[in-house]
This record gives sequence, C-alpha cells and structure tokens, in this order.
Amino acid sequence: MNILKVHIEFILKNMKTKKYDKIPYRTCLGCQEKKPKRDLLRIIRTPEGVVEIDQTGKKSGRGAYLCYNKLCLRAALQKKRLGKALKVELSPELIKELEERFGITVNHN
Ligand SMILES: [Zn+2]
Repeated sequence: MNILKVHIEFILKNMKTKKYDKIPYRTCLGCQEKKPKRDLLRIIRTPEGVVEIDQTGKKSGRGAYLCYNKLCLRAALQKKRLGKALKVELSPELIKELEERFGITVNHN
C-alpha cells in the first residue's frame, strides 16, 4: 500500500511540474525577474526593423519583455537594456508611447 501511495504521489508531482513548465516565463528587462509571459508587456522589433508594442503577444520578431510597472520601464531605459535587447536605437516617439502607456496603467491601479 505504501509503495502504491508513493507512486501516486510521484505521478501527481510530475503532472504538476509538467503543467508548471508549460507556462512560458520571460525575464523583465527592468527588475530582471522571471515572470509568466502573459503578465509582461511585449515589445518587438519586426523583421522590417520597426519597434512596436505587441498587444497580442503573437507577432513575430525579436521580443523584449517588461512588467506593467513604471519603475521597470525606467530601469530598462536608463540601463539601455531595451535597446540592447532589441538591437535597435529607440526613437523618442516610442519611448514617449511607452511612458504614456505605463502612466495610464499605473493610474488604473
Ligand atoms: Zn519588472
């Protein structure tokens, strides 16, 4: 009986681990913490070299991730991690768009 119990627990544990592994995790460029992809804002550089905010999370291109947090955006910009991750110079327009978006997000909270 004990062996059977251990077996079941082992299987259940494995199932949980597998489920957990299915959630895609990405690293925020600001705080550099790993978080579920859906909790992060995705910024991409398209194959054409245009940097944009990916609303759907499904666009193709080189992606960078940020928490919905002003401090993370600031840190990523100040340390130039965002530009480095996307391998592109960020335009002032994009930075403004990001700041506005994060400002709005923060106000909602
Ligand atoms: Zn963060």
